[in-house]
Amino acid sequence: MKNIALLGSTGSIGRQTAEVALANPEELSIKVLAAHKNAEVLEQQARLLRPDFVVLTDEAAALELKQRLAGHTEVLAGEEGLLAAATYGGIDTVLAAVVGYAGLRPTLAAIRKGKNIALANKETLVAAGHLVMAAAAEEGVSVTPVDSEHSAIFQALQAGKKSEVKRLIITASGGPFRGYTREQLAEVTLEQCLKHPTWQMGPKVTVDSSTLANKGLEVMEAHWLFAMPYEKIAVVIHPQSIVHSLVEYVDGSVIAQLGAPDMRLPIQYALSYPRRFPASYDLLDLVGRSPLTFEEPDLETFSSLRIALDCAEAGGNLPCAFNAANEEAVAAFLAGRIRYLDIPIVTEKVCLQTEQLSHPDLEAIEATDREARRAARAHVNSLSL
Ligand code: NDP
Ligand code: MG
Repeated sequence: MKNIALLGSTGSIGRQTAEVALANPEELSIKVLAAHKNAEVLEQQARLLRPDFVVLTDEAAALELKQRLAGHTEVLAGEEGLLAAATYGGIDTVLAAVVGYAGLRPTLAAIRKGKNIALANKETLVAAGHLVMAAAAEEGVSVTPVDSEHSAIFQALQAGKKSEVKRLIITASGGPFRGYTREQLAEVTLEQCLKHPTWQMGPKVTVDSSTLANKGLEVMEAHWLFAMPYEKIAVVIHPQSIVHSLVEYVDGSVIAQLGAPDMRLPIQYALSYPRRFPASYDLLDLVGRSPLTFEEPDLETFSSLRIALDCAEAGGNLPCAFNAANEEAVAAFLAGRIRYLDIPIVTEKVCLQTEQLSHPDLEAIEATDREARRAARAHVNSLSL
């Protein structure tokens, strides 16, 4: 039995993780639920899953939840509550599905307490992959991917030795604006942006998927998870989201993992590994999903991916700056404050003005994150609609 703290339980990954746990009650037990401020969903989850305690980081929302769950479940509040969830003695595994940089501190704290990590929160590795993977190695804990592409690579890597790998090939759906020109992207609305063709996700990752920033973040995530140099990581557009990623070996064999576009499969595998549990979701209809097609990404038009790859190559604190600026720009776009094409403009400006540090410690990463957000907000204000 795995005892799990589910961080980000009210989100897209969090809710699907709860479904996976309920479908495998002999194997998976969720002992703690944590989220930001959605008291309504967290109350429902607490009544259904009966965890030892629950957490909302927003103090006012936590107070409301305390009233809703009086006499039923203990409620903790604030960042300390989130850290208490991540380090709780009654768990062995943390499923990290908080969105954004906010996932970094609880994930690091969990690793330091010897918890295994099932990682959805890619921003943690983008901002501080060198610190997170070093801490995991020191503590002897595993960091297992939830992200579908990385789950696919993790599975395909089991077909050979690491020294025999020629390339990791990460697939991207291309999002709702695949094939658009810059002129067409300039007219894109928030509503169009939130309609992803193949995946149902939270708003931040949905916007990131449409700009291809998400693929840039995923290249960095793969670099850290699999200790693979950037020249051995490629991106290919695959609009059907059936081939979740591939590993090319030196002999020319290319091993792929395929599945229906349903996050419950990679979530479940991250929690069942090295075993496999039977599926409680629809299996892949290979013929019904054909044909499967592949094309090159357009880095000129989707400049967020190019900027991300440049930051990845530069290394040090630049991926952290990219991530922070992108989070701020996406939040401003979601709030209707800037236009769609302002997202890469803000991000690139911030990255160009970031003072580069080649081996940032946690303090330097926190400072980079703060400074990049401040700079991004200033650019947003100057562009505001
Ligand atoms: P959602 O926006 O749907 O959910 C985010 C979750 O994080 C919510 O539970 C939210 O709580 C919580 N949260 C937000 N801020 C904080 C905070 N400061 N402290 C504690 N909890 C917080 O996001 P997704 O589920 O889509 O994505 C989660 C992560 O997984 C992201 O890093 C994303 O890139 C990654 N991912 C997602 C995929 C998907 O299919 N959705 C696929 C692959 C990776 P509340 O609801 O209370 O605000
Ligand atoms: Mg992904």
